[in-house]
Formats: sequence, structure tokens, C-alpha cells
Amino acid sequence: MEKEQELQIYKDAIDFFGNTSQKIMVIEEMSELTKELCKELRDRGNTENIADELADVEITLAQIKMIYNIDKIVEEHKDYKLRRFSSRMKELKANNAK
Ligand SMILES: [Mg+2]
Repeated sequence: MEKEQELQIYKDAIDFFGNTSQKIMVIEEMSELTKELCKELRDRGNTENIADELADVEITLAQIKMIYNIDKIVEEHKDYKLRRFSSRMKELKANNAK
């Protein structure tokens, strides 16, 4: 799907259901993903269900970023955290090699 079309669908959902409803939805979807991951850890899960719930979480998280208009700020935080994590991993690997 085109990015513009995807963003329009998120905007329509937020306009129709409202900010509060979509904030509740992301919480619900995160808990559904949590449940599927827990089931998988008990050998009762399936990858299709995990993928389905992950898609729901990504869709609702995108709406949260839109509601708060924080898409760029989130990307900046991700970039910082990934660089920091990468640096830590290099240290850990170097220490393991000793
Ligand atoms: Mg779901």
C-alpha cells in the first residue's frame, strides 16, 4: 500500500473514532500481542497469530505517532538508541573475545 494512502486511513480512523479511542486501541492491541507471545513461549502459539497481532500493534502505534505528531521525534530517539545499543554490543563482543 502507498504510504500516503496508509496515512489517510490512519487520519480517517482518528477523525472518526477520536484520539481517546485510538489510544485505548493501541493498549488493547499491545496486550493481544503480549498474549500471543506468552502462548508461543508455552508452546501453544503460532507465528501467524503473532504476525497478525504485530500488524495490529504497528497500525495502532502509527496512529499514536500521528495523534501526538511525533513521528520525527520517535525516529530521532530510535536513531540515538540504536547507535548507543550498537556501541554497547561492540564492547560486549570485544569483551567476549578476550
Ligand atoms: Mg489484535
